[in-house]
Amino acid sequence: MPELPEVETTRQDLHQLILGQGIVAVDCSGKAMRLPWPADMAARLVGRRLVNTGRRAKYLLLYTDDDQVLAIHLGMSGRMVLSQLAEEEVAPHSHLRLTLANGMVVSLQDPRRFGSVSLMPVAELASWPPLSKLGVEPFSADFTADYLAQRLAGRVTAIKIALLDQQLVAGIGNIYASEALHLACIAPQLAAGQLTLPQLRALVPAIQQVLTAAIASGGSSLRDHIRPLGQLGGFQNHFRVYDRMNQPCPNHAAAQNCSSLIKKLVQTGRATFYCPSCQALP
Ligand SMILES: [Zn+2]
Repeated sequence: MPELPEVETTRQDLHQLILGQGIVAVDCSGKAMRLPWPADMAARLVGRRLVNTGRRAKYLLLYTDDDQVLAIHLGMSGRMVLSQLAEEEVAPHSHLRLTLANGMVVSLQDPRRFGSVSLMPVAELASWPPLSKLGVEPFSADFTADYLAQRLAGRVTAIKIALLDQQLVAGIGNIYASEALHLACIAPQLAAGQLTLPQLRALVPAIQQVLTAAIASGGSSLRDHIRPLGQLGGFQNHFRVYDRMNQPCPNHAAAQNCSSLIKKLVQTGRATFYCPSCQALP
């Protein structure tokens, strides 16, 4: 499933190539997605120009010159594809296609159709229900150890599970929760309310560091993530613990001199990877 780095990479890849471009055609498969298709979408978009891109949590945002915003969620298996109209073969799972004045086509391909496309005035974006309940962005100034301490106080949920809660912090999924907890040397099973302030002070920059590195690598390509121009992300080659069961802890050569092997644990149905030494329970 695309997480924050994969959506952010997609946004960055699209940004320069679509900015300022007029929309000359809009085609929609009409097939049911996670949310209903916007009414009159083609009429509202054709003739408009794309003036900016953005991201909130795992939503890709495309802004038009008349203050509308397209909010696209990639769901479990979605990807944005940028191709030349002249060379394009319409993919069977292409659900939205924006043909641009420069001859490029931006399309949303989503075989499992857990993604969604919404269109609204920019002024309504912040109060739009899928976004209004989301927690802080991990790169925002509001994401601090004190914020986490306040929100996690008394919670018995394991910290790994708590980090997946989009109402706590937006955009972190299964891969980056495991990676950040290893970097911060925090046991994934530890009750969220039991993390100490020093642990929370380590966790915040660990999350930011892992996400920054993932974005710099173009995201993680495990099953579905392919960038708009067809390249794969590369962060899967830099995983500390994720998908590395029984391999040496990356701290084996570091100051910690760890000799443990990575273990796998299942928490509420999702795989967690961790080092039992570096991330020992207190
Ligand atoms: Zn270790």
